[in-house]
Amino acid sequence: RLLSTPVTVAGEQKQAGMVVLLLDVTARQQAERQRREFTANVSHELRTPLTSIAGYSEIMASGLAKPEDLRGFAEKIHGEASRLIALVNDIMELSKLDEKAALPPRENVDLFDLCEKILPRLKPEAESRKVLIELTGRRACVWGVRPLLDEMAFNLIENAVKYNREGGSVLVDVAEGNETVALTVQDTGIGIPPEHQDRVFERFYRVDKSHSKETGGTGLGLAIVKHAAAIHGASVELSSAPDSGSCFTVIFDKEFHAPA
Ligand code: ADP
Repeated sequence: RLLSTPVTVAGEQKQAGMVVLLLDVTARQQAERQRREFTANVSHELRTPLTSIAGYSEIMASGLAKPEDLRGFAEKIHGEASRLIALVNDIMELSKLDEKAALPPRENVDLFDLCEKILPRLKPEAESRKVLIELTGRRACVWGVRPLLDEMAFNLIENAVKYNREGGSVLVDVAEGNETVALTVQDTGIGIPPEHQDRVFERFYRVDKSHSKETGGTGLGLAIVKHAAAIHGASVELSSAPDSGSCFTVIFDKEFHAPA
C-alpha cells in the first residue's frame, strides 16, 4: 500500500510517502511446518524397520545364531523390507500428488468397473481374514485420473478388510444422483473412536500403532485418499463407531472439471 502526504521541505511542497507491504505468511509457515513434520516422520518410519533389519542381519552374519532360528530371522528381515517398500511406494505416490502438473490426463472413469477390477486383487487378503466383500450399485462415470481413483478405492477397500473382524463383511457401493456420484465403502470392523476420526486422514496418523504394524500399514493410505479426492474436487465423509464398523463415502461433483 502506498501512503503519501504532502510535506513542505525548504519552503517547497513535496510528497512524502512510504510503502507498506503486508504479507500473510500464515499459510507459508504452516506449509513449512508440515514439510518439517513430514520429513521427521519419514525418517522415523524408515529408521524403525531399518534398525530391525540391521539387527537381525548382524546376528545372522556373526554366526552366533542357532541354525533353527535362522529362518525366523530371515522372515523378519523380509517382513521389514516389505514394509519399507510399501512405505517408499506411498511416499512416492504422495509426492506425485503434490506435483499436480505431472499427473496423467483425465478421462471418463467408471467407478463400478474400477471397483470390480480391484476386488480380485484383495481376494487373498480378504480370504485369509475370512472377510466377505460385496459390490453393489451400477455404472457411474467421473471425469478423473484413473490411477489415482484406483489407488483411492483400493486403499479404502483394503482398510475395510484389514480393520475388520474375522467373519466380517465389506460393502462397496457406487451410486449416481442428479449432481453427484458417490463411492461408499462400509465395513463391520473395529471402528474408529470419535476423537480420532478427523486425524486419521493426516499423514502417518494411526489409531493403534501396534495393530497397524501387524497389518502392515504405512499410515499414508487415507492421506492419499484425501489428497486424491481433493484433486477431483470430491469430499470424503466418515461415519464410524467403535466395534460396529466404519463407513467412508467419497462424493464427486458431476459438474467438476479441473481448471486447465
Ligand atoms: P494404515 O496404513 O495404518 O492403514 P491409513 O492412513 O490407511 O494407514 O489409516 C490410518 C489409520 O486409520 C489406521 O492406522 C487405522 O487406525 C484407521 N483406519 C483406517 N481405516 C479404517 C477402517 N476401515 N476401520 C477402522 N480403522 C481404520
